[in-house]
Amino acid sequence: MSLKAPKGTIDILPKDSAKWQFVEKTLRDICDSFQFKEIRIPVFEHTELYVRGVGETSDVVSKEMYTFNDKGERSITLRPEGTAGVVRSFLEHGLYADSQPTKLYYMISCYRYEKPQAGRLREFRQFGVEMFGAASPAADAEVISLVKHIFDKLGIQNLTLNLNNIGCPSCRKAYNDKLKAFLTDRKNDLCETCQERLERNPMRVFDCKSEVCQSVLKDAPRIYDCVCPECKAHFEEMTSYLDEMGIAYQLDKSIVRGLDYYSRTVFEFVSNDIGAQGTVCGGGRYDYLVEELGGKPCPGIGFAMGIERLLMVLENAGISLPEPKEPQLYIAAIGKEADKKAAKLVHTLRCAGIRAEKDYMERSVKAQMKYANKIKAEYTLVLGDDEIAANKAQLKQMETGESQEVCLDELKEKFLS
Ligand SMILES: [Zn+2]
Ligand SMILES: [Zn+2]
Repeated sequence: MSLKAPKGTIDILPKDSAKWQFVEKTLRDICDSFQFKEIRIPVFEHTELYVRGVGETSDVVSKEMYTFNDKGERSITLRPEGTAGVVRSFLEHGLYADSQPTKLYYMISCYRYEKPQAGRLREFRQFGVEMFGAASPAADAEVISLVKHIFDKLGIQNLTLNLNNIGCPSCRKAYNDKLKAFLTDRKNDLCETCQERLERNPMRVFDCKSEVCQSVLKDAPRIYDCVCPECKAHFEEMTSYLDEMGIAYQLDKSIVRGLDYYSRTVFEFVSNDIGAQGTVCGGGRYDYLVEELGGKPCPGIGFAMGIERLLMVLENAGISLPEPKEPQLYIAAIGKEADKKAAKLVHTLRCAGIRAEKDYMERSVKAQMKYANKIKAEYTLVLGDDEIAANKAQLKQMETGESQEVCLDELKEKFLS
């Protein structure tokens, strides 16, 4: 049996979990302020949901999904992303019938069969926000402002917000024809994948990372320049909200989403601290997704970000994150009776929310003190027959070496004050 975790998975060890908890709590607190409520969705769904919701032609669906038949011969897929499951739940439970908008967030693990590389895992964790029911530009600006606040709150500065307007299905139809004509003239310069993309969905060529394709695209027509007046007005109104909130942005006409249900605003936050693959967060409006998945027309906007990547950015930016919390008090005991008394004392302290620790390895008192030092206990207290008889002991602050006498019954108050 191999004791190695499967390729592309990681363990988050105790030495690192405090960092995760800190980031997760920050995200939750921010969602709370912005009045987004958490939704928890299943790890797996019917495969069809992702085929429709993520798009058959996408790399995720065509190459990267963990799909299998369960024992009832149903095709099941481990969630490769969060939005499709959230939309399914939104529809199944009729959340659209509540007063709108519906503001949701999720913090989940996702699964993609990808080539593992720095910051890209097969099991990865994602945080995302979805807002349904609101078509107004103010909703786009709110979602973007939430992401911006996350980065501000975490102290990440070296970031750029890139925006694009990808129009609606009607303006995109005309654009697609234009782009297809442009690319068809240069078909032989495109990579094999893109030659295929050109037939099925020309906008997907923008997703290609190959340099040859990117150089062909340099002079290609851009959707931003081809949108209809309504889409143009929506985008301008949205950026005026960002201006009002003092949120800086840049136009990046190369950001696209290759699927028809995306519309109008798309955005990316790009970090200048993690090199070439700097996108930390991507999002946009998807006014046609709910319909695509079988609901009545309902606008939506959202984003997702990888938490591993977020931690990478924090690390590269030199932002220090919390370490595991050390015990406030270590009680060392001499002998069996004292050990029982120590057990009772730490229990009382722990129940009051104080981080207390004792020995479980039957160490000598000297070894117990050595251990207390190693685990960086803030205070120590040695309990022997004399201390129990007097109901008093010396409370020692480890850093200064200073001691003070405390009554054992008042130990709790000492730490709570
Ligand atoms: Zn339009
Ligand atoms: Zn290509």
